[in-house]
Amino acid sequence: MLPDHLQQRLAAVQRPLAPRGRYAPSPTGPQHLGNLRTALLSWLITRLQGGEWLLRIDDLDTPRNRPGAEAAILADLTWLGLSWDGPPLRQSERRGLYATVLSSLRRTGCLYPCRCSRRMLADISAPHGAAAVYPGLCRDKPPAWGPQQGRLPSWRLALQPGGLTWEERLGPPGRLDACQHVGDVVLRRADGFLAYHLATAVDELLLGITDVVRGADLWAATAPQVAVIDRLGGTPPRYWHLPLWCDATGQRLSKREQATGLEPLRQQGLDGPAVVGLLAASLDLVPPGSRLSPQELQQQWGLEALQQRLSHPAKA
Ligand code: GLU
Repeated sequence: MLPDHLQQRLAAVQRPLAPRGRYAPSPTGPQHLGNLRTALLSWLITRLQGGEWLLRIDDLDTPRNRPGAEAAILADLTWLGLSWDGPPLRQSERRGLYATVLSSLRRTGCLYPCRCSRRMLADISAPHGAAAVYPGLCRDKPPAWGPQQGRLPSWRLALQPGGLTWEERLGPPGRLDACQHVGDVVLRRADGFLAYHLATAVDELLLGITDVVRGADLWAATAPQVAVIDRLGGTPPRYWHLPLWCDATGQRLSKREQATGLEPLRQQGLDGPAVVGLLAASLDLVPPGSRLSPQELQQQWGLEALQQRLSHPAKA
């Protein structure tokens, strides 16, 4: 499936893994409080297992990157008292790796070129904007990879029929039917960009990530990523999809409220421990108004109790 040197790397990480987590922000602008809360929880869940915590910058989608955003992310995390292991990893510097994996998938016949336009797919998509499952229109056509009428095809992964399953630590196990619910995933876009699901799946696998902690809004991204990991012969990590940020009455915060970054809080005179307290209190991990460092939060919790609390937040 993979070239030998990658197969060896995969074999090296497939032995019982030491716990390893990652925080994977996109450098598209300032981090809002929801992002920072995810970072804190990802750090906490990893450190409670004695694991390494990596910082991965998801900067493949270059038109959306903002100058200075990466430096601001690093500065915000440091200001909160969170430290990561090793240098930050940038997906933009790992393009060669993703391209190698993509070519080996293509060589083994798992991919096919797709020329369906967005408009065409929108026309056949489910009503009410529900995410469309690609019905495989180009699957059985003769594979023509070159440009036609000046346009290149996207490259889709042909999913094997059957169930895709993964471990969810904060909810029922992930279980979706590949053909009915997921559909063939685009791994290389028609504009030549490597797809985010490919990069993420390759990274989780080859970096030996055991615990992916992220917002529940990314739940839907899990099945396509698990599908790629499966195809590469790997085992998916455990997923912790955190509840979305709610106010005291259990209402999801509006985009505007969530969007508040650290700056207004600093201007109100809050320091790192006060903001860690605020982030942790929003999930009922500490009483409102607490001031504490990430390490002090770690001392107050065990992994199982934390998992229980996050699965059944008292305020929800
Ligand atoms: N980079 C993606 C984002 O910031 C999230 C990645 C993830 O945690 O899987 O939305």
